[in-house]
Amino acid sequence: MKNVPFLDLKRQYQSIKVEIDSAISKCIENQHFIGGNEVQTFEENFRKTYNSKYCLSVANGTDAIYLALKALDLPEGSEVITVGNSWISSSETITQSGNRVVFCDINSEDLSINVDHLSQVISSKTKAIILVHLLGYPANMEKIMKIVRKNNLFLIEDCAQAHLSYFDGKLAGTFGDIATFSFYPGKNLGAYGDAGAVITNNQNLWKKMRLMARHGAINKGTHLMEGLNSRMDTIQAAVLNVKLKYLSKWTEERIAAAKYYDARLKGIKGVEVLNFDSKRRHSYHLYIVKVENRDDLIEYLESNGVETGLHYQTPLILQQAYDYLNIETSEFPKIMEVKDKILSLPIFPGIQKAEIDHVCNSIKCFYEG
Ligand SMILES: *Cc1c(COP(=O)(O)O)cnc(C)c1O
Repeated sequence: MKNVPFLDLKRQYQSIKVEIDSAISKCIENQHFIGGNEVQTFEENFRKTYNSKYCLSVANGTDAIYLALKALDLPEGSEVITVGNSWISSSETITQSGNRVVFCDINSEDLSINVDHLSQVISSKTKAIILVHLLGYPANMEKIMKIVRKNNLFLIEDCAQAHLSYFDGKLAGTFGDIATFSFYPGKNLGAYGDAGAVITNNQNLWKKMRLMARHGAINKGTHLMEGLNSRMDTIQAAVLNVKLKYLSKWTEERIAAAKYYDARLKGIKGVEVLNFDSKRRHSYHLYIVKVENRDDLIEYLESNGVETGLHYQTPLILQQAYDYLNIETSEFPKIMEVKDKILSLPIFPGIQKAEIDHVCNSIKCFYEG
């Protein structure tokens, strides 16, 4: 066994090359690059996948969150809560949309949002939550929905890592007012460049987001307001139309790989496998373990040809970008507890058992010699 990449997209491409090449060359032959059938078809297919009333394709997952927040049109000075250990899109969009970021802690056993802490950080100014289904593991929606209703909050689900994740038989992304998706190439459903989408059952919110994402124009030449240019390219939609058909199968492959990892890693001294509730279908965008002596392990794995990742190297609460919030790290005990232990191992559809064996054997060798 030589190298185990963190993510191998070439393998996926080889398995669908004929379809992808044909879909892309069709766009080029027709010189269709903006809008068109492919985009409409994607919106329709994605909407149906989620049994949702409306879908709007946009340029990327960050724009999706920004547009969702803008559409809520929150009063000045509103606070929006998100987790303190996510990708910065989940929080920077809160500020960009004119609101105030409030961070919330996670659980140490599953890295999901800590609902007790969530309740504690809600104030009279809190108007919305950007709920990140981190790693692909759905948050505890039973408890979250109680909190949302009790406090009369808007709920935006950031599903950038959670395509086809379920909480108790219901798709993550169908609980809140709006769900946002990223199709960044490395995501579970990845385009061949940047792309994103929002889904909602609320026609009014969908109309507002569409207007804003299309320069505030109701038709060519008539602008009701200033907006932005956030479109999904035709070629990206064509790629996603091919890949969407395989998403379910690829998710099953991720789950099988994760189960295999769990079985191989349990019992290794120095490694703690995360603990997930079986009522939730985790789509394993990331496979994370908590480990002792992480930096040495990363180096050892690298020398054994195993690529790993950190999600995230520095949590948002410790980023310089949030110095202005004067965050007390003692209010985030779980993020602080896990931040130097979490390690993301290679996972992707098509990863071979022999590759996982090599990763696990190398980890075992590191700790047990
Ligand atoms: C990837 C990601 C985004 C942003 O997606 P882009 O398409 O890269 O803009 C937002 N939130 C989370 C949790 C992500 O992982």
